[in-house]
Amino acid sequence: MTETSGPTSVLIPGRHPGLYIGGDWVTPKARRKDLDIVDPATGGVFTTVESAGEEDCAALVDAAESARRSWAEMPPRARGEILRTAWQLMIAESERFAELIVRENGKAWGEAVAEVAYAAEFFRWFAEEAVRCEGDMRRSPSGTNWIMVTREAIGVALLITPWNYPAAMATRKIAPALAAGCPVILKPAAETPLTAIALVELLARAGVPDGVVNLITTDRAGEVVRTLLSDPRVRALSFTGSTEVGRILLAEAARNIVKCSMELGGNAPFLVMADADLEDAVEGFMLAKLRNGGSACTAANRVFVHSSLAGDFTEMVVERMKGMRVGPGLDRANELGALVSEPEIDKIRGLVAGAERAGGQVATGGLSLGRPGYFFEPTLITNVPVDAEILDVEIFGPVAPVVTFDDVESAIRWANDSQSGLIAYAYTRDLSLGMELSRRLEAGMVALNRGVISDPAAPFGGIKHSGLGREGSGEGIHEFLETKYTAIPF
Ligand code: NAP
Repeated sequence: MTETSGPTSVLIPGRHPGLYIGGDWVTPKARRKDLDIVDPATGGVFTTVESAGEEDCAALVDAAESARRSWAEMPPRARGEILRTAWQLMIAESERFAELIVRENGKAWGEAVAEVAYAAEFFRWFAEEAVRCEGDMRRSPSGTNWIMVTREAIGVALLITPWNYPAAMATRKIAPALAAGCPVILKPAAETPLTAIALVELLARAGVPDGVVNLITTDRAGEVVRTLLSDPRVRALSFTGSTEVGRILLAEAARNIVKCSMELGGNAPFLVMADADLEDAVEGFMLAKLRNGGSACTAANRVFVHSSLAGDFTEMVVERMKGMRVGPGLDRANELGALVSEPEIDKIRGLVAGAERAGGQVATGGLSLGRPGYFFEPTLITNVPVDAEILDVEIFGPVAPVVTFDDVESAIRWANDSQSGLIAYAYTRDLSLGMELSRRLEAGMVALNRGVISDPAAPFGGIKHSGLGREGSGEGIHEFLETKYTAIPF
């Protein structure tokens, strides 16, 4: 392996290494075109990252595999202390990470700062969980033996992350994997590798031994991931991204019976019931829709408002949306940043046009900003028919279609009429109706009178086509553990 210099500052213009194997930044074996990293606020390339390929995969798995046993056998407290140091470093370097995220992802400054805090919290949370891998010991019903149940690290884990939360989606996987005792290979999205590079470098400073965290950046995601999954030493796959890619990876993982955790696409309904506190509902909606510029799997995409409140709801949301400052994230006063790329803008433009053709009316927004970069106005579309195409696709931008309803049964039926089942939001002042909605809404998570639900201490994940498994909470670590039963004579 040829060593190159480490990424002293990933914001320095120029070329950055993107292959980290066994504690060294190394040059990819084959010369490939670099990844161009585009600033979504300008549309211009501001730096490049080396792109590795299939021929580098064996070395990645070799490094992770050679660190596997010693990392798994390290005392849980020691692993926890390293994670806690990572949390401290990340909080101390919050501004640096926020700047990286803004530059490569385009989000607003406040969103980036919030992401760093959220991302760092996974290190602290799993530092605490590392020492709580409980087992079980009991006498068998027959009385002849003990049933001893222990948890063991599953082995090398492949972690694949999307561009919308470049830090948090990585730490939500790295932290539990490391807490469980697993070495990892991280493959970030091609649009946002810089934050991942900085995270890997931070983890080394926190004391993670060589080989425990490895990284590959590539413009050949399909080939690289297929090659890694064909190596029988890779035992776990944790993927966050689209349902479409998740489906491909589940099939590829099946060959070696790799344990899969899938955090896939969402299409969240947002229900405002007749008795809702309207001000609360509008406040919650603004968060649920526009957090992360709408580029969130948790984003409220299908808004169902009781007809008695629809007029006031629209008026209040329009006023809030019109008052938002849209522009580059590095200007800290801007509340809504850019979308990640030109194709995302094109997709959103098409969805708005389709909703209008279906009979919807644009109450505010509807246009991209007349300036360089990938900016789109916060947009509310009213009177959208319930069968409009925009309700069937994950919007992933600052656009919300509103459908009105007259009875609770229709609202629940329409909310559940989706293959996605990640999260559902509902506003009501009636506790028993709230409990009924919690029970009947088909989603892995229900936000009742809340616009934000993500919390490292809570189980995050979806049902139906939104995924398999849970991240965060006490459950997240189990994605990286195997259960072992040992029978011992009584
Ligand atoms: P994506 O296109 O599925 O990409 C996600 C990751 O998979 C990227 O690293 C990508 O690499 C890689 N990838 C793409 N094609 C692949 C293939 N054939 N084989 C192996 N890897 C492949 O998703 P995205 O557009 O980045 O992210 C948006 C999606 O993520 C949305 O659907 C959103 O809902 C979902 N998401 C879900 C959650 C959750 O917790 N449920 C959280 C955040 C986002 P390249 O970038 O190199 O193509």
